[in-house]
Amino acid sequence: MRIAYATLGCKVNQYDTQAMRELLENAGHTSVAFDEPADVYVINTCAVTQTGEKKSRQMISRAHALSPDAKIVVAGCYAQRAAKEVLLLPGVALAIGTKDRSSIVSLVEMLDKEKAINAVGSLRQEKAFEEMSVTREGRTRAHIKIQEGCDRYCTYCIIPYTRGPLRSRALADIRKQMELLAAAGYQEIVLTGIHLMSYGKDLPEDVTLLHAIKQAEGLDTIRRIRLGSLEPQLLDEAYVKELAGNDKVCKQFHLSLQSGSASVLRRMNRRYTPDVYRACVRLLRQAMPDCAITTDIIVGFPGETEREFRETMDFAAEIGFARIHVFPYSRREGTPASAMEGQLPRSEKTKRASALIALGEDMEKAYAARLIGSVRDVLFEDCVQGEWQGYTDTYVHVRVSGEKEDLAGRMIPVFITGLQEKHVTGVLQRTC
Ligand code: SF4
Repeated sequence: MRIAYATLGCKVNQYDTQAMRELLENAGHTSVAFDEPADVYVINTCAVTQTGEKKSRQMISRAHALSPDAKIVVAGCYAQRAAKEVLLLPGVALAIGTKDRSSIVSLVEMLDKEKAINAVGSLRQEKAFEEMSVTREGRTRAHIKIQEGCDRYCTYCIIPYTRGPLRSRALADIRKQMELLAAAGYQEIVLTGIHLMSYGKDLPEDVTLLHAIKQAEGLDTIRRIRLGSLEPQLLDEAYVKELAGNDKVCKQFHLSLQSGSASVLRRMNRRYTPDVYRACVRLLRQAMPDCAITTDIIVGFPGETEREFRETMDFAAEIGFARIHVFPYSRREGTPASAMEGQLPRSEKTKRASALIALGEDMEKAYAARLIGSVRDVLFEDCVQGEWQGYTDTYVHVRVSGEKEDLAGRMIPVFITGLQEKHVTGVLQRTC
């Protein structure tokens, strides 16, 4: 069959889609572009915000419009949260949710005979990590999913309900996939999960994310390990020392903040205070002075006063982030925050988001400008309008012009010469 794919949402979803795609390709099915005629569409959906669900529905109706006779498979968090609703959408033949994706081949191959199939099961009893490997993802960086589920229950978040309890991948399977990716020539891998810092908590042996990182030892092709989202209260001195001491670990840490106000963090059920966050950043910078701290912040959380928002702005300015992802609060039915008093109007959320985005952009430029005059290894990805572009290990965007060679997938030292908008420019440092 000709099968087209689309993914909404996070890196974990992108990994799950690529894994389903490789299973279907290995079974002899042909992958086609989304706007080409297809027999089946696999749409991996997101439910983290109302917008995520809306975009998922738009993608489903687009698939139906493109190929009215095609069978649409809806996977991911939206299908897990609202299977019956999804199965009523025109063209949808299968809802699969956030587990049993490894059975995608047999489910898709039975689509012909059956009416719509609801394959969404309860996650409550889920204990084992669903082993699915990915070895053919892009040219430069590869993601490895090592953890599933979350047990934190932040009050605004739907994910624990759509992804279920903690499940960690076996270290041996992580090592096996790293070996495959090293053999395929990948120099950078990204360790990803729903709650990465919980890696190992559910396993019988006493292991943590640090043990997963160590699985890359001896694989010289892999020169960079980039980490997904981390949490401050779990990064103590010993942990930071290990991260700093591992040359492969990218010195960019995505430390989710969500709010700079202690009172808002309490209402969010986040398990740290601004002081704990500040101390964690200090630890990271003492061990790695040039490291990049990036983050996520929600603005307009229910009841967020002007003073609390000011606290967030002041805290963000104090930390000096290399990049901020700003999210206006999105009410998710079934979460404690959705029932809280003081829901803010969209206009107020938009106003606060714009203010924080502007602050974030200034800090991003300030961080990038610090690289001028230094030499940084850059992993080149592609060439756009004659300029080769890639990223440093601190995830600063670098562009180099005037190079005729194919630099894709190559890691080359670059002398940083200047700043343009949100990227820096440079020249290759060629070794004789
Ligand atoms: S840690 Fe909180 S925000 Fe992150 S997935 Fe878990 S519940 Fe959601």
